[in-house]
Amino acid sequence: MSEKTNTKFIFITGGVVSSLGKGLASASLAALLQARGYKVRLRKLDPYLNVDPGTMNPCQHGEVFVTDDGTEADLDLGHYERFSGIPATKYDSVTSGKIYQRVLDKERRGDYLGATIQVIPHVTNEIKDVILGHIEDEDFVLCEIGGTVGDIEGQPYLEAIRQLAYELGRDRTMFLHLTLLPYIPTAGELKTKPTQHSVKQLQEYGIQPDILLCRSQIEIPQNERRKIALFCNVKEECVIAALDAKSIYHVPLAYSQEGLDYQVCKYFGLNNTQEPDLKKWQHIAEVIQNPEGEVTIAVVGKYQLQEAYKSLAEALTHGGLANHFKVKIKWLDAEDVEKQGAEALLSDVSGILVPGGFGNRGTEGKIKAAQYARERNIPYLGICFGMQMAVIETIRNIAGIKNAGSTELSEDCEPVVGLMTEWDKDGTKETRHKDGDLGGTMRLGAYPTILDDKSKAFQIYGSREINERHRHRYEVNIKYEAVLKKAGMLISGKSPDGELPEIVERPEHPWFIGVQFHPELKSKPFDPHPLFVAFVKAAIENSRLI
Ligand code: GLN
Repeated sequence: MSEKTNTKFIFITGGVVSSLGKGLASASLAALLQARGYKVRLRKLDPYLNVDPGTMNPCQHGEVFVTDDGTEADLDLGHYERFSGIPATKYDSVTSGKIYQRVLDKERRGDYLGATIQVIPHVTNEIKDVILGHIEDEDFVLCEIGGTVGDIEGQPYLEAIRQLAYELGRDRTMFLHLTLLPYIPTAGELKTKPTQHSVKQLQEYGIQPDILLCRSQIEIPQNERRKIALFCNVKEECVIAALDAKSIYHVPLAYSQEGLDYQVCKYFGLNNTQEPDLKKWQHIAEVIQNPEGEVTIAVVGKYQLQEAYKSLAEALTHGGLANHFKVKIKWLDAEDVEKQGAEALLSDVSGILVPGGFGNRGTEGKIKAAQYARERNIPYLGICFGMQMAVIETIRNIAGIKNAGSTELSEDCEPVVGLMTEWDKDGTKETRHKDGDLGGTMRLGAYPTILDDKSKAFQIYGSREINERHRHRYEVNIKYEAVLKKAGMLISGKSPDGELPEIVERPEHPWFIGVQFHPELKSKPFDPHPLFVAFVKAAIENSRLI
C-alpha cells in the first residue's frame, strides 16, 4: 500500500446509461487539477474479460489506443493523454481479463499457500494493487471504472474501491459519480429518478458518492439540485451540472465554471482560493469557435463507428487548430469507393487520409483512393495500412507489377508487404511465427525512426531521429526500395538497422506521405502533431487551388 505517500485517489464511476463521457470527464478533471498546479495520473479499470482490447472489433469497442510501452488499451487513455499531456503506461490500464490472468498465474505457482481463491479477497486485492501500484509523487490518481454501476462484471471493482476508501481514509479518497438527467420535453422537466436509483445502487455496495456530475441538456434548476442532494446524500454544491459542450475541448472550462475543481479541492481541504490557470484551454476554445476557414478531408476507412478513429479525428482537429482552420471530415467507406469509384466520392475533398486497418474488406477502395490522390495531386496521408496500400498502388500501377499485394490479404501475390517474423527491440530480437497468438503480439509501442535529411518528412519533423508508436504485424519489404524509387516513391524513414521502411513519400507530389506508425496517438490540442499540422496545411493550400 502506498501509505508513505499522501497521494489522493478519485474514483470515477458512471450510472444510468453508458456513453456519458466518463473518460472525458476524468480527463477534464485531471486537466483542471493540473491547472491548479497539481501532479496527476489517470487510470482506467475495465471490467470486461478480454485481456486487452487488442483483439476486439473496433466496431464494438472503438479504437485501440497504444501507449509508448506497447500496451493496447482502451481509447479513454487517449483522452487522458490529450488532456493531461502525460504519456500513459502499462500500469494505467487494466481489465478483468488481466486481473484474473494474474490471479490464476499466482494460484498455479502456489503463491496462495493452499487458500481457496475467491473474488473477495483475491481478485479485489489484485485490483487494489493495480490502483496503488507504481505511483511516484502524484498528488492525485484518478481511477475511472469502466461500464455502468449495476453491471455484474463491475462488482469486484466497486468492492475494491470501497475497501480502499476504508483503508486509506475518506480524506484521501473521493467518489465521483457521473449520471444523466434525462429531459422530457412534453413535461418540460429534467428527471432525477434514474440518478437517485443509480446512487442507491452505489450505496448498496457501500459507496457514498461525494460529487455527482450530472449530464444534462439544459441548466439544472435549483429545485432539482436540492432534490438530488437530499435524496442522494450529497452536498447541494456538489451536484454539478455537466451540460453538453460546444466541443470536447470546452469541457474543462465548462466544468470549472460549474465549480468542479473548486469542490474537489474543498473536499480534500486544499487551498481553492486561487483560480486555476486555464489560459491554454481558453486559447483552444477560442480558436475552435472562430476558425479562419474550413477544409474538408476524406477519411477512407471501413469501420462505421467513428469511435474507431477517435485519435485520428482528434489529431485532424489539432492539425486544424494549428492552422486556425476547422477540419471537416468526410467519412467514407472504402467499399463504397471500390464500388462507385474515387472520382464520385473524392472529387470534392482537399485532402485524403487512409487510416490503419486490418483484413481484406475495402482494400481495393483504399488503393483506389491512394491512386486518385497521387494522380490528382491531392494531399495524401496514409497511416499504417494506408501506407501499405499506397506502396502497393505505386508498385502495381507505376512499376507494373500487377499482382503486388500483402500476405495479410492473400498468399498468392507478389509480397511487397509481408509478415514480420523478426525485428529489433531495444537491442534484442523479437520473433514471431505465422501460427502464433493474435493477442498482444504485434510490433507494438514506441520505436525510433531515422529520417533521410533531404526528405519532406525531415523538414516536417525538424529532426533526424523520431519516436512514434506502432501497431502492426506486416511491413513493406525493404527489398522493393529500388523499384519504389524508380516509380517515384522514396523511403524517407527507416528503423535504425535500416531493415524496416517507416515512412514513404513522393518527392514530385505536393504532399504525399505514408507512415508505418500511428502519429495520431501522440497529437495533443496544445501540441499538435507536426505531420497533421503539415497535412492540414497542404489540404488548405490545395483547397485554394480548387
Ligand atoms: N494490418 C496491417 C498490419 O498488421 C496494418 C495495421 C494497422 O493499420 N494498424 O501490418
